[in-house]
Amino acid sequence: MAELQIRKISKSYQKNEGYVLQSVDLTIKSGEIFFLLGPSGCGKSTLLRMIAGLIEPTSGTILLDGRDITHLPPEKRNTPMVFQSYALWPHLDVYENIAFGLKQLRLPAAEIRQRVENILETVHLESYIHRKITSLSGGQQQRVALARALALNPSVILLDEPLSNLDAKLRDDMRLEIRRICKERALTAIYVTHDRKEALSMADRLAVLHQGIVQQIGTPRELYMNPVNRFTASFLGDANMLDGELVRDDEKSWFFQTQIGEIAVRKINKSGHEESYQKAQKYSLMFRPENVLFEDNCSREYPENHIRAEILENSYWGESSFRTMQAGSFRFYANEFAAPERPAGALEKIILPADRIIPLSC
Ligand code: ADP
Repeated sequence: MAELQIRKISKSYQKNEGYVLQSVDLTIKSGEIFFLLGPSGCGKSTLLRMIAGLIEPTSGTILLDGRDITHLPPEKRNTPMVFQSYALWPHLDVYENIAFGLKQLRLPAAEIRQRVENILETVHLESYIHRKITSLSGGQQQRVALARALALNPSVILLDEPLSNLDAKLRDDMRLEIRRICKERALTAIYVTHDRKEALSMADRLAVLHQGIVQQIGTPRELYMNPVNRFTASFLGDANMLDGELVRDDEKSWFFQTQIGEIAVRKINKSGHEESYQKAQKYSLMFRPENVLFEDNCSREYPENHIRAEILENSYWGESSFRTMQAGSFRFYANEFAAPERPAGALEKIILPADRIIPLSC
């Protein structure tokens, strides 16, 4: 078991300077792969380094299985970190790199050998045990870095953009691989990235950070489908935003007046804001490009939100066609799957399904 609790953590690097983290509260469950996602400079690495014990918080508490570790040195935490740069010793071979930390723990030689061999099997590098680090590819070096952390039987493993230096194909493979390894060993893992695809595809849950403040915490699906604000909506994927004023509601729907007419929004959406929706207030109606439907390529009947829009530009993506569209002066994106060819300039009948629109505060 290894549950991590982060309680009201704030950090200012210099006295009299602003905070790079503000009152961060997170609970990372035992066995969970938890992501910290946000743009460069939002404070992700600072938070990870605090969990590792490399930086002290200005205020707040970090608990590991209920024990206060806020001021414990890194070597007493058993929370090793895997870095983007691998941070391996180039003059040592694979075996020595992984055994290094185990020797510091003064484990018996036979146990060290056993652990190194086991862990190399896990990362599929058993035949590389005596290879020089410099003779390995980037992907192999990252596996060694991961193995070195895993060999310590960590309570929590910390991953700081570990795949950023790998090419796209290898990155995809390693995502699956890291997830497999963490799940096989029921590891608690905290993973920092600015890459939304990495976070969405690997995380059990994630926290989105912006300017040192946690914006939202949840599963990838919850955050993608029901973002609570414009930042989270846009950071997790393409997001169309249509300004609208709440004019009325009935049992099933809210109705917003917009520049493309009245738009219905089904009341089933749970973005956490519903209680505070107010008449005569302005909202951004958020919908994803893949939720824009074309009437002639749509198998269901939709009673509301039928609009005419012109195609301005098409990008062919193979599995879908990504289109820039305009209705009146409102410009938006549509991502149509199993898409027929539609020329730029064509006027199309489209639908914005009422259960796929999230009103967000402006
Ligand atoms: P991220 O990992 O999200 O890119 P960081 O945690 O590295 O963000 O940085 C957050 C903010 O803290 C940035 O504005 C950065 O310049 C600042 N910062 C990071 N490390 C230090 C440091 N050692 N001293 C002063 N400021 C720092």
